[in-house]
Amino acid sequence: MNTNTIARLVDGAYVDPDGNGKTMLSVPTRSVVIADSLKGMEADVVRSLDLPPPFAIISDPDTHVVMGKRVERALESLGPVIKIHLSKNPHADMPSAEALVAETRTAGTLIAAGSGTINDLCKYAASKQNRPCAVFATAPSMNGYTSVNSAITEHGHKKSLATVAPDGVFMDLEVLAAAPKRMIQSGLGDSLCRATAQVDWMLSHLLFDSEYREAPFSLLVDDEKGLLGEPEALVSGDLDAMARLARLLVLSGMGMTICGGSFPASQGEHLISHYIEMMHPNDWDIAFHGEQIAVTTCVMARLQERVLQGPTPHLSSTTVTKQSVMSHFGENIGAACWDEVAQKRLTKDGADELNVHIEQSWSDIREKLLAIIIPSETLISVLKRAGAPVSFSDINLEEGFFIDAISHAREIRNRYTFLDLAADADIVDPKTLV
Ligand SMILES: [Zn+2]
Repeated sequence: MNTNTIARLVDGAYVDPDGNGKTMLSVPTRSVVIADSLKGMEADVVRSLDLPPPFAIISDPDTHVVMGKRVERALESLGPVIKIHLSKNPHADMPSAEALVAETRTAGTLIAAGSGTINDLCKYAASKQNRPCAVFATAPSMNGYTSVNSAITEHGHKKSLATVAPDGVFMDLEVLAAAPKRMIQSGLGDSLCRATAQVDWMLSHLLFDSEYREAPFSLLVDDEKGLLGEPEALVSGDLDAMARLARLLVLSGMGMTICGGSFPASQGEHLISHYIEMMHPNDWDIAFHGEQIAVTTCVMARLQERVLQGPTPHLSSTTVTKQSVMSHFGENIGAACWDEVAQKRLTKDGADELNVHIEQSWSDIREKLLAIIIPSETLISVLKRAGAPVSFSDINLEEGFFIDAISHAREIRNRYTFLDLAADADIVDPKTLV
């Protein structure tokens, strides 16, 4: 069914559930191939897109072995190939991104053989030079394959920069299933946050009448059910389970593209993760994006449940000040954070106005949000069954740092989530959420 969902989106023939029944949704990606194996088909799937040579094929030592080498060899039949071998464990930061721009100057098309970091670098370098790009995935670790942004770190601040979408996304399920378990567990984490992200986004919509859409979630419903039902299969090499995760990651990225931003897949749980990425201790044994999201999703699910089970919240003006942000985050990062949080701070009048609305509508708001949550106990159980992390200690963080992350994550970005609601209403102590 969902292979069809992707095909219909690619063909511009998926009916927009938020429209009048006649509007069709479409995405810029022109081809998605998810197959048990792509062996021997690498050149065919690229040829069908009619992309201009030379082809710059970007891999690191690990992804070169599992995919890059195959793609380099196969694409030689289509035109000149420029082999770009990044160093082990590349970083998605601005110096690396600009270095890739320089290295791909003569390329007609950029082709990533990799997952999160390589895909982000490749999309950035392609966009910067107005070139098309495509990706051969090597791990089902995150939902950015089909998104139109790259997460690139600049001066310590993780930024989401607008990019082109890949023209083609090619997923060889045997390769994905053979990826390191931690990367598969990451993809599970980055998929399950659908629930907490949707609840946060809808909260903001119900409080402030900001934009909200059903489309990105309707794309995911069927495969998400399957994923929740058999998480063990994902990490035991089952290709059907892997196909489900691959589709969810592709569709989640397309949902963000359709919405023109990461709203449907990145809310409070991603803010806590961004905080961790920006502020972690120097000697932190780094956890993958989706591993962090697995843990922070559990926190957000608990927080959302606690607020929704409690009395009607009563908000006060936001206590965060420029001084408090600067002293917590330091000069550089603090200034960028203040720009964000200043936009959503509640004044006394703003809080009073919102309290009138909340008192009138809370039972309605609560009912709508409870209808879309996945209970925290279910999330924790599914993650545990797949061997994924569920607690701060599973991702090598200290409790005190993690509590700080929950308390201050809302200061990073102008997105009003349950982190804001709970803090402005002073109702849930972050210490009780870990
Ligand atoms: Zn994510």
